[in-house]
Amino acid sequence: MILQLNENDLIFSKFPKHKNFNDISDKKFNRLKVLGFKGFENKNAVWYLKCDCGNIIKLVSYEVSRKRRATKSCGCLNRELASKRLKKHGLLIPGKRVREAMIHGSMMSRCYNSKIKEFKYYGAKGVKVCQRWRIDTYGCINFINDLGNRPTNKHSIDRIDVEGNYSCGKCEECVENGWKMNCRWATIKEQNRNKRTNVKITYNNETKCLAEWAEILNVGAETLLSRLKKNNFCIHKALEKPILKKNIKISFAGDLDTLIGWAGRLNVNPKTLRRRLKNKTIEEAFMLL
Ligand SMILES: [Zn+2]
Ligand SMILES: [Zn+2]
Repeated sequence: MILQLNENDLIFSKFPKHKNFNDISDKKFNRLKVLGFKGFENKNAVWYLKCDCGNIIKLVSYEVSRKRRATKSCGCLNRELASKRLKKHGLLIPGKRVREAMIHGSMMSRCYNSKIKEFKYYGAKGVKVCQRWRIDTYGCINFINDLGNRPTNKHSIDRIDVEGNYSCGKCEECVENGWKMNCRWATIKEQNRNKRTNVKITYNNETKCLAEWAEILNVGAETLLSRLKKNNFCIHKALEKPILKKNIKISFAGDLDTLIGWAGRLNVNPKTLRRRLKNKTIEEAFMLL
């Protein structure tokens, strides 16, 4: 941060007598024109300079004359370049997108900055950001383009499969690894639900998440979840209850049929079969016959 001065407050000094004094009077360095010599500060020669934009600042002579990282303006040049960069990438829309860019930044930190405390739940567990969203500068742009603007300020970024990566589903890395688009904007409520319905459940030697089981069993994920809670998380009871729905198809021994259909095939009263299915697994209920 360079302090700006008022032209009326400037106090000039005479040049020192010694030969090595580097007189830069009237010279111009990029946007900065030398107004005059202020004097010495900590043995450094300090000069007043006026920027093309009108601001007056003071600097040590080497700050403007050095070859690398020289000061080129009062600070206006950097601000212009920064806003140009943002505009170029479509990020400088007041009130919008800047927040999305920040969300992208914290996602990157969670996965790649081992110094932050969230890292242990993400990067340390092998959660990655895919190539398209990870690359410098454009990663952020791609991320925003793929997800669109955040619908409301209550929304944040959510992984659809909570064990998956932050992946776009279409870049080289995603295609190679078979990663699907795994992100969406979601409210905290939706995210918590997502976490609950992503619980992995093993049933009949098959492991799927709760949401997938719910889909297979043609029952709402929330219904299945409340059923699991009611049955003290006894998976068999919870997963097999949906089959008691009218006309629900039951899959058994690689075949699919309705309860009535199965009763017919097994030559048993549908009511009996239904009753058995209430307290037993499908196998047990069918084998008993
Ligand atoms: Zn300036
Ligand atoms: Zn990708």
